[in-house]
Amino acid sequence: MFEKILIANRGEIALRVIRACREMGIKSVAVHSTADADAMHVRMADESVCIGPPSGTESYLSIPAIIAACEVTGAQAIHPGYGFLSENANFVQIVEDHGLAFIGPTAEHIRVMGDKITAKDTMKELGVPCVPGSDGGVPDLAAAKRIGEEIGYPVIIKATAGGGGRGMKVAQTAADMEEAFMTARAEGKAAFGNDEVYIEKYLTTPRHIEIQVFGDGKGKAVHLGERDCSLQRRHQKVFEEAPGPCITPAERAAIGKVCADAVAKINYIGAGTIEFLYENGEFYFIEMNTRLQVEHPVTEGIFGVDLVREQIRVAEGLPMSFSQDDLEINGHSIEVRINAEKLPNFAPCPGKITAYHAPGGLGVRMDSALYDGYSIPPYYDSLIGKLIVHGRDRAEALARLDRALGELIIDGIDTTVPLFGALLQEDDIHTGNYNIHWLEQWLEKNMG
Ligand code: ADP
Repeated sequence: MFEKILIANRGEIALRVIRACREMGIKSVAVHSTADADAMHVRMADESVCIGPPSGTESYLSIPAIIAACEVTGAQAIHPGYGFLSENANFVQIVEDHGLAFIGPTAEHIRVMGDKITAKDTMKELGVPCVPGSDGGVPDLAAAKRIGEEIGYPVIIKATAGGGGRGMKVAQTAADMEEAFMTARAEGKAAFGNDEVYIEKYLTTPRHIEIQVFGDGKGKAVHLGERDCSLQRRHQKVFEEAPGPCITPAERAAIGKVCADAVAKINYIGAGTIEFLYENGEFYFIEMNTRLQVEHPVTEGIFGVDLVREQIRVAEGLPMSFSQDDLEINGHSIEVRINAEKLPNFAPCPGKITAYHAPGGLGVRMDSALYDGYSIPPYYDSLIGKLIVHGRDRAEALARLDRALGELIIDGIDTTVPLFGALLQEDDIHTGNYNIHWLEQWLEKNMG
């Protein structure tokens, strides 16, 4: 059993992991940059180690600094959270070479799923339905144009190493192909050091539906239903819910089984998310994330299980604490992502919090590392909190979200909170009638 776990992350997700450790009687080690010396995760952990200057590259992404912090503190395992090193296969390899445990999948699984073309090929072989598109990488513009004609416009050109919504360009017609192809390539090269791209049919009105899977690494796996994350801005999720308002129990059981069987077959270990676009009753695989997702709390909300605790258990070689039959959906959960950003342009807005009050009451969970007087440093992601609500049904969850947003106080900086208040005025949000383009169109109309 692990006695001490190091958390290679910061912010709300570091707190999330510390909380699970504490409930399991495991000591936690926080790492931090010099800019984060006063951060909540440092205060809340049992021990902390400064691992470098503010820049993420020299601190939270510095593999030698993190390994050294484990050695100094005697931590036996590393939880990566999300972002930073969580999907870095090389890091996992180094962790294991140092006799430490990585709380997450194997380096091999991360490698396979981190390359979108290999991931798609693997999923196709495992019987998971995929978006029609090019067979692997597209070598040049001529080939791209040929494929565009074959599958029919609009198409989307995606960097095989892409992520976080970067390295993707849509070509509405053949005339857009050259620019879209060159831009996706250049973005892939600049952001991920890899200019390989592939092409997919661009679905015009899909929803983003993702299936949470969990494996024990020994051939057993379950699914924990879906999350609907269709409300996105620039391919980034802002509002997530579970279960999906448009998914039937029969659809859930069918796609869930396909996903659980697929990850069982590859002996997947830990939490994973298989992302789909969903249109006209069909699921199309887009990518797999081999880590805990930002939006995992909505799944925890409806199933009442602690996914971080399970991650730690399977990393220790223990079995999962539940089986597929134990998992029953209870009510509805919604999460909104609160960013330190100024509307209407979503410009980053770091600064000092002059007053902070988290909402509470039945069915309200606030995952945030904010506190009164805290200064949000300008060096990292702008996510500063997640407000998660649970209700017996979707209507109750929405009413609770409205009530909780009203209680929340974050003074001193601008945040995306007003966006959610405005969204709750929209009928489409209450009926669940939206697809992945709805929010962009709404923003254009209301904040453009
Ligand atoms: P990333 O790894 O950057 O998050 P994904 O492949 O997961 O990229 O895609 C992110 C988002 O981009 C999706 O949720 C969806 O909004 C949009 N998208 C991706 N592929 C397609 C497609 N074939 N058709 C339409 N939209 C797409």
